[in-house]
Amino acid sequence: MAKKQFKAESKRLLDLMINSIYTNKEIFLREIVSNASDAIDKLCYKALTDDQVGLNRDDFRIDIILDKNARTITVRDNGIGMSKDEAENNLGVIAKSGSYAFKNEMTDSGKEEEDLSIIGQFGVGFYSAFMVSDEVTVITRKYGEETAVKWQSKGADGYTITDCERDSAGTDVIMHIKADGDDEDFSAYLEPWKIRTLIKKYSDYVRWPIKMDAEHQERFDTGEKDEKGEPKYEYRTVTENETVNSMIPIWQRSKKDVSDDDCIQFYKEKYHAQKNPAALVRVNAEGAVSYKAMLFVPGETDEFYMFREEKEGITLYSNGVMIMEKCDKLVHDYFDFVKGIVDSPDLSLNISREILQHDRQLKTIGQNLEKKIKGELEKLMKDDRPAYEEFFKNFGVQLKCGVCDEFGRNKDFLRDLLLFYTSENRLISLKEYVGNMPESQSAIYYASADTVKHAMSLPQCEEVRSRGYEMLYLSSALDEMVIENLMEQDGKKFCNVVTDDLGFETDEEKKAAEERNTESKELLDFIRESIGDEISKVRLSAKLGSQPCALTTEGGVTLEMERYFSRGPSEEMRSIKATRVLEINPDNSLVKALQDAYTSGDKEKAGALSGILNTLSKLMAGVEIEDPAEFTRQISNLF
Ligand code: ADP
Repeated sequence: MAKKQFKAESKRLLDLMINSIYTNKEIFLREIVSNASDAIDKLCYKALTDDQVGLNRDDFRIDIILDKNARTITVRDNGIGMSKDEAENNLGVIAKSGSYAFKNEMTDSGKEEEDLSIIGQFGVGFYSAFMVSDEVTVITRKYGEETAVKWQSKGADGYTITDCERDSAGTDVIMHIKADGDDEDFSAYLEPWKIRTLIKKYSDYVRWPIKMDAEHQERFDTGEKDEKGEPKYEYRTVTENETVNSMIPIWQRSKKDVSDDDCIQFYKEKYHAQKNPAALVRVNAEGAVSYKAMLFVPGETDEFYMFREEKEGITLYSNGVMIMEKCDKLVHDYFDFVKGIVDSPDLSLNISREILQHDRQLKTIGQNLEKKIKGELEKLMKDDRPAYEEFFKNFGVQLKCGVCDEFGRNKDFLRDLLLFYTSENRLISLKEYVGNMPESQSAIYYASADTVKHAMSLPQCEEVRSRGYEMLYLSSALDEMVIENLMEQDGKKFCNVVTDDLGFETDEEKKAAEERNTESKELLDFIRESIGDEISKVRLSAKLGSQPCALTTEGGVTLEMERYFSRGPSEEMRSIKATRVLEINPDNSLVKALQDAYTSGDKEKAGALSGILNTLSKLMAGVEIEDPAEFTRQISNLF
């Protein structure tokens, strides 16, 4: 019989499939089962208006038949089937839809190996059978026709098509499984457990029953008696035809049929979670884009969460068929802790990454879902503050990164979800902070160090607190970057108590302070020189309360940022340093002692006291001191 050739573009794709080095070959089953399900949809629809079909809804099914000896997997459906022309056109040519676009994309980019991974995610339909088979036979009979056709192909060199017999309408796709290779175990696809696993994973929610024979051990009475006169039992293997898929996905069912508790149960089982989710989002959207979503904000995290490249994320389904296990394009990274399912009949199975990225419908779904997730989180913050704070401890870093990412583009969407420490154990939102501000307060005051406790002990905080104003205590460079990005809250600017003008001094006071600094210039220069280059300037300060000194910075880089950059990957990054300024309190006895030593000409003592002030300022700012033993010696030498 003459072999027919595939169209050029199909041949190319087929070549890729056959020689695919891609590891995720298992998706072939999803593709073939989806085709079967679509074919049943079509006939079922026809049956609504055509009595001749003679099948009820309950009669439709997909059978999977494994034959280890013959090395075949058969996927059988009693759907609409194909005529000879259709078989030729549909199976001999790449479908016009996604597959074709996929192929073009691949040709354009010329990076075949990389692009092969796309196959695994989006599938290219029927041809994927050739990833695991060395021969595919399709026996199909179109509804309403008397004869059936047999389409057969061993791959890229072409196919044959002949008439044959089939009892009723429907299609058998018979895949002859390849021999095992060096590191490819194709035989596994002939194992019932493997096929069951794949059905569960990819096709669990296909609307039609997917049936398979399953072997069970059954106890039976032999009719004989044992020595005690009891009936004698033995076991035998029985084969039962079972439905493997669960068919109706929980997220497809209406809210009145499925309680929130059911959803929580589903979440715990699916994601092996110990704790209940912090929030649940259920959406049933109809309109320009129709979709159903069931999303969860986890109630717990593990220590590796931040480092895990592959987050569990959101799984995309189209009509119950999984099309993408982790869709990282649906919501922004700041919500990447959200897990769950989005199912939309508007998404096609054959969709390339390119299309997905620019898919308007997907964008709309993503935006809507983000609003819903935010809404649930705000509700949690209002109704169950401890739970929200727990959530924020788990995933707040993501939200903070989200504020800084993309040049701060999403900061206004996220700002109301942020919390900051206002004392060692109390978290506050920016809205709450501004709401608590007395009329006399004009700015949002914050201090930053490596820990909240440290930030609280910074001497510059004293003056703010003594006025009865609240403070925000930041404990990371990320916190500082968040504040820098946010810029203001409800019209109130942020003020770093270490580096910014607190705004408490009048112009006269400022002028007087400046004059005092000028008067003491000689002493201040002496201190700076005794300390050396690590300090760029020494100045008198009136905002240190009871403390003798404080380390502050000038310019854009703060001590926290310096600490952050010091852990950076490049030498260039690690060399970024803050410009340090030592502030000293002229009213403090230690500073007075220094001044006395200097004026009385005891430069040695004045120099030693300068060094002590510098080390003290570092200790208070949480900066590591290089030589604690030397510091101890300096102190003891004084007495
Ligand atoms: P797609 O499903 O994206 O159209 P496929 O390569 O999977 O691409 O299938 C091509 C076409 O072959 C389908 O659109 C359908 O018309 C036909 N087809 C495949 N499998 C079956 C089947 N089991 N029953 C009827 N038609 C089928």
